[in-house]
Amino acid sequence: MMIDYFIYTKTPAGKVRLNQDESLLPLLGVTSQIPGEFEIKAKGQKPQLKSYLELPLKGAQQMSMRVKVLEVNALITPIDGWSALCEGPSQSQFDIKVANITCDCCSEVTQLEFIDFGLDTQADALVGMIKSHWLASAEAQICPSCKNKANND
Ligand SMILES: [Zn+2]
Repeated sequence: MMIDYFIYTKTPAGKVRLNQDESLLPLLGVTSQIPGEFEIKAKGQKPQLKSYLELPLKGAQQMSMRVKVLEVNALITPIDGWSALCEGPSQSQFDIKVANITCDCCSEVTQLEFIDFGLDTQADALVGMIKSHWLASAEAQICPSCKNKANND
């Protein structure tokens, strides 16, 4: 699913996070020649095959793009630079939107960022809510803390 390539963790601009051990490395570049395939260049510790890289998402405050490492090669320069061929979202067009969601239980309003893939904004917002631990359907939206309270009762 397309949304699997996005996570609710912010990665600082100019950095890439190695999901295998949470380290943040300097990002040298991201290119995509073929839909769904990304070439990530960075410096420092090499990622393991089949691990994930988390990349900054332009315009996003809450989210990162998450791609799977298929191949890693050393770069000639800089020293300790590497290039990783990764699997990522095949769609290059999507909007980052923010929704104000009111919890049906505590009435608190949360600003939630989500990816609008351009087909069904409401469904995309619901997927974003579920991914960020809301209990969400078209009929009801319960925030993560109310959800946890209900689970612990
Ligand atoms: Zn609530």
